[in-house]
Amino acid sequence: MKFGGTSMAGTERIRRVANIVRAQAAAGNEVAVVVSAMAGETDRLVNFCREANPLYDPAEYDVVVSSGEQVTSGLLALTLQSMGCDARSWMGWQVPINTFANHANARVGDIDAEKLIASMQSGQIAVLPGFQGVSEEGRITTMGRGGSDTSAVAVAAAVDADRCDIYTDVDGVYTTDPRIVSRARKQKYVTFEEMLELASVGAKVLQTRSVSLAMKRGVRLQVLSSFVEEGAPSADTLPGTMIVSDEEMDAILEENNVERQSVTGIAHDKNEARVVLTRVPDKPGAVSEIFLPLGDAGINVDMIIQNVGRDKGETDVTFTVPQAELARAIALLEEKQSVIGFNRIISDANVAKISVVGMGMKSHGGVAALMFKTLADRGINVQAISTSEIKISVLIDADETELAVRVLHSAYGLDSQEAA
Ligand code: ASP
Ligand code: MG
Repeated sequence: MKFGGTSMAGTERIRRVANIVRAQAAAGNEVAVVVSAMAGETDRLVNFCREANPLYDPAEYDVVVSSGEQVTSGLLALTLQSMGCDARSWMGWQVPINTFANHANARVGDIDAEKLIASMQSGQIAVLPGFQGVSEEGRITTMGRGGSDTSAVAVAAAVDADRCDIYTDVDGVYTTDPRIVSRARKQKYVTFEEMLELASVGAKVLQTRSVSLAMKRGVRLQVLSSFVEEGAPSADTLPGTMIVSDEEMDAILEENNVERQSVTGIAHDKNEARVVLTRVPDKPGAVSEIFLPLGDAGINVDMIIQNVGRDKGETDVTFTVPQAELARAIALLEEKQSVIGFNRIISDANVAKISVVGMGMKSHGGVAALMFKTLADRGINVQAISTSEIKISVLIDADETELAVRVLHSAYGLDSQEAA
């Protein structure tokens, strides 16, 4: 069981979480619980690091930011004990949750869960801080923002859990953001592949890495709400969204005699910025001059378009970078202006990426055409496009985000038939 920051925000909420955990244990399950820091706490800790030293050492950053989860795991263990449950916390180094590579963005390696399993088998509820692990050097690490989801999946895989339930402040994965589209529908099932794409294009339910880990390790993953009334159906009745393999989805569709839809989810992301380099020489090697320095600096470029060359052998190159990296990207490119040979840099942070995702795209034609036509009918201009086998993303003016999501949700037949 994994509980996110809003579910852990304060002792009153932790008590509700403890009640949900206790019910699972009372039903005869062996339980490990992974928790996030209280909502807002990690941001607060990150800011302290920035104030202390703008060029902070990631190893010391990890010491500071991992502390939020240490607090909530101890508090949950205490609360469970106050209810008469046998509960014990396990810090990342105690399990140990071995991680490797970079501090602040560590990846989970092997987890030797022998002691953890023994304690669970003895009837003790194990409470683990999400987000944190231990490096090969024995230092505390963290797994990147949102990393508690990945901790939960890694622990579930290590103890060979029947299921990994991710409790959050929404009751599942929706066809799109219900705050934008009131007719958005909660999905009973989503495939790993779709969830992976949705997470990577801005749906914030799960950390992307947790989905790929669950897919690789075959962990049964359910997303559900921790904000439920007393006496609500238990997690075992699958009230949330189950993330399933493509084969399982096929079987479910066949059993219910329904066809796969072309699009199952629509996501939006306002955290990108658009960069245009004008009058770049239209010759071999020009684009690599642009993207090599960005890659070396660890700046992730997403969408790219190169305009058709003009006369005089010049072209414009448009691409997107994370908004947080825009200033750094511009500085790097300006440094290289004479090498690359462009004329001007134009940037715009007021853009949004809208993505439609669905495994059904592989077999349905006209999915992209419908997207472009729907947006064109509303006068929404597409500034860049990128695609994968099961995803189409477009870049538009950020002010048109809500409108675009709404009209696309209708166009792909995703609106709930029940009155909103
Ligand atoms: N507390 C960490 C964060 O805010 C990890 C998590 O909650 O998943 O990013
Ligand atoms: Mg999260």
